[in-house]
Amino acid sequence: MTQLLRPALTGIALCLSLVPAHAAPPQGEGVAWDIVADLTTEIGPRLAGSPREAAARDWAVARLKALGFQNVRVEPFTIAGWVRGAESAALTGPYPQPLHITALGNSAPTPAGGLTAPVVYFASLDALKAAPAGSLAGKIAYIDHAFVASQDGSGYGPFGQARRQGPAIGASKGALAVVIRSIGTDRNRDPHTGGTSFPDGIKAIPAGAVSAPDADLIARIAGKGQAMTMHLVLEGHAVGELPSGNVLAELPGRDPSLAPVLLACHLDSWDLGTGAIDDGAGCGIIAAAALNVAKQGQPLRTIRLLWAGSEEVGVFGGAAYAKAHAAEPHALAMESDFGADRVWRVSFNLAEANKPLAERIAAALAPLGIPVNAAKAGGGADIGAIAKAQSAAVIDLDQDGTRYFDLHHTPDDTLDKIDPEQLAQNVEAWTRVVAIVANEAGAISGAAQ
Ligand SMILES: [Zn+2]
Repeated sequence: MTQLLRPALTGIALCLSLVPAHAAPPQGEGVAWDIVADLTTEIGPRLAGSPREAAARDWAVARLKALGFQNVRVEPFTIAGWVRGAESAALTGPYPQPLHITALGNSAPTPAGGLTAPVVYFASLDALKAAPAGSLAGKIAYIDHAFVASQDGSGYGPFGQARRQGPAIGASKGALAVVIRSIGTDRNRDPHTGGTSFPDGIKAIPAGAVSAPDADLIARIAGKGQAMTMHLVLEGHAVGELPSGNVLAELPGRDPSLAPVLLACHLDSWDLGTGAIDDGAGCGIIAAAALNVAKQGQPLRTIRLLWAGSEEVGVFGGAAYAKAHAAEPHALAMESDFGADRVWRVSFNLAEANKPLAERIAAALAPLGIPVNAAKAGGGADIGAIAKAQSAAVIDLDQDGTRYFDLHHTPDDTLDKIDPEQLAQNVEAWTRVVAIVANEAGAISGAAQ
């Protein structure tokens, strides 16, 4: 469908009809595809702070320069580093069985040889919160609670708290370790990693997530009221400060006095997969859209790309960007970090005075079948700090999240999961929006808080 809207591509699409269906998509759609394909092939997993994240920055600088971006640079910062180690788990009672587990980022390591302890089953995070102080001493706290897939991915916020907060809550009640059901919607045996955190004053403990089928097994045994014991080996551990950085690139506008339009994604990934949907695709989409807009003529405003570092482990890149660019006004920010499936809705956080601008954007997206969401745009992790600090406008091109949490933070986050046609639809939607906002002469700002 998207190709029909772009007559210039028809010839290319015809040429490629000789290519097998599973080969690379047409070159006209190729910038986004090539970025995510090459990044996942030539770099692959790029955990925040790791040598592979550094290699990704070098790769990104070379690629963005080759694509014609200007002022391509790295803005370095440091993070509290964490590295993965050996990881395994097994039920040792009442029914000895291996489990598929992965450590959560910021997990403390288990002692040499691992640990074996009784399991206390909690059906939800709220149940863990209600456990008496000290009641988990010498035990492994286990947190269940599945969430269901939805187009807007709304289950991830509330249910993801089991991962974000659960380990610290367990630690505060004396637990030796916390294990959770993976924060995901698939039925595969792959566990989902992701960051957790331990606030000041709470000592970090080992924390891991088991796959959905293993979580079901644990729930069945708990449902019979049988006592469980678990053996855990989670050797991931903190390693002190590590280098990270943001990669910035620009297409300078005709009027440097106007505030730039910021387009963001994140370059780091979790280490289990190759970071295709999270978030190589986002980096491809925003770069391709910016170049498409520039092809229509030099935009009025500068378009700036932020390929943020270290998003997954604490949004350090977004925070570093907001700090480094605090003195520079930002009109509008957008982020692509929810996979590569179709844009199905647009959400705005625009000042009342920018209503006509929102109407023009809505009219440009309507032919793609993309309606306006009545609720305000929430933005994304990496633009959150700068947009909030400056009350900048935010526009979200909401992607279909129905299958996103099947793959998110798993070994299955790989290139083959990206549908080239849906990726191209993203680029088309982004191109239409960026073409309008980057050529807007009037003031742009967010809605009053
Ligand atoms: Zn992401």
